Amino acid sequence: MKDNKYQVVIGLEVHAQLLTKSKLFCGDSTAFGAAPNTQVSPISLAHPGTLPKMNKKAIELAVKLGLALNCEIERNNYFARKNYFYPDLPKGYQVSQHTAPVCKGGSLSIKVSGFAEKKVQLNRIHLEEDAGKSIHDADPQYTCIDLNRAGVPLLEIVTEPCLHSAEEAFVFLSELRKLVRWLKVCDGNMEQGSMRCDANISIRLTGESTLGKRVEIKNLNSIRNVKKAIEIETERLISVVEKKETIIQETRSFDADKNITFSLRSKEDADDYRYFPEPDLPPFQIDEKFIESVYSTMPVLPEQLKELYINKYSLSEYDAEVICSEKPDAEFFESVTKYTTNYKAVANWMQGPLKFYCNEINISITAFPLKPETIGTLIHMVESGKVSFNNASTKIFQALLSAPEKDPHAIAASLNLLQESDVGAIESWVDDVINSMPGKVKEFKNGKKSLLGLFAGEIKKRSNGKADMQVVNKLLLEKLSVDQST
Ligand code: ADP
Ligand code: MG
Repeated sequence: MKDNKYQVVIGLEVHAQLLTKSKLFCGDSTAFGAAPNTQVSPISLAHPGTLPKMNKKAIELAVKLGLALNCEIERNNYFARKNYFYPDLPKGYQVSQHTAPVCKGGSLSIKVSGFAEKKVQLNRIHLEEDAGKSIHDADPQYTCIDLNRAGVPLLEIVTEPCLHSAEEAFVFLSELRKLVRWLKVCDGNMEQGSMRCDANISIRLTGESTLGKRVEIKNLNSIRNVKKAIEIETERLISVVEKKETIIQETRSFDADKNITFSLRSKEDADDYRYFPEPDLPPFQIDEKFIESVYSTMPVLPEQLKELYINKYSLSEYDAEVICSEKPDAEFFESVTKYTTNYKAVANWMQGPLKFYCNEINISITAFPLKPETIGTLIHMVESGKVSFNNASTKIFQALLSAPEKDPHAIAASLNLLQESDVGAIESWVDDVINSMPGKVKEFKNGKKSLLGLFAGEIKKRSNGKADMQVVNKLLLEKLSVDQST
């Protein structure tokens, strides 16, 4: 930022759609992608004579996330009506938690590369229902409304204004997304709108402690866009101040194609919403027993697991981070370690051939067709010199993918890929190559050590890739240096 004259202050409000089968106050399905307005009962619309009923699963998921983030769990909960008029809001109000959020405080640690770890303080997490969706591009003349989403349970996760760069916001959202997915609280799918973010941004002179006037950028639909929008808005706010103009407290939107933010409306105050307690839903208590029962279902959290992998399996920070970024990856990793103790190799296989294959056909590791045991066997075969990593991770791996039940050894044999580690056989290839390239051998002896790769490559070719390259390299070095001294 311009000579560090200003500090940017950011507070995020993240809406996470809870992974419940039905809506927050009725049995309508929450499934994504159904035909418009097919998941809308009269209760979703609050028609006269209907009454909402609380979905217990939503409370469970809220408590789960609250426990994972070290929040204080509110024991006495009730809902409030937030009244406003908008076409996609069928009830004319949104049922939310206004003064008594289910989770208070808490924090999430983030690490921006090159900076110390930082605890991002949370203000609150509250339950609320989603609104419907306005569709502007389905008809040339009209805006269409799909109410399938109306009443779907959301958690709104609100941070304190304690983030100070677009990068911090980016890392915070990535970590939060990872956590909600890990806990199966939310699928974190930003494209489908199951995780959305509003960014509140202000600037102040560096060293100043009072907060500046903020703008709120609504409905950012990817983590990358949050980062971009903050960067652009920060620049805009600075230029407003530098021009000695005043910042208007307002709600803005981000146009990712044009790379600009633009004003939507001036910011409402809480008074405008005429909040009052929801009369149709009784208050609900969360007791110790319920919290205990949620706690007992908590998995080991990604950060704890990462530490464990570094300490127990001696994985590098990087490998541990990558493997612990999604729970199914960590589970697959663990299941392979039942068959091999070469943990580094498991990490390499997962980040190499497995990841490549899964990305290519767009599946997650849970749909990966080979058994963990098979990967363990492949690792053993490479380790014991039976096949080269190269052949194992390409030819044998490919063959297994089309016949997952086959024995990797049998495939290696049928493809003629079992490696020759018999020194006698390898020695003759080594001798052949050295004898057939006297010129290159001379250059090598004169100091062009990089030629070692050429000799090794030639031997590999002559052996059809079957020579154990470790033995090859050892023999080559022996022979060339013995030669050299004579
Ligand atoms: P509202 O519900 O009206 O949007 P809140 O007071 O609940 O307002 O704050 C919403 C978010 O805005 C929080 O994440 C908070 O940290 C952030 N925020 C509040 N004031 C500022 C400010 N001056 N600069 C940046 N962020 C702010
Ligand atoms: Mg807000």
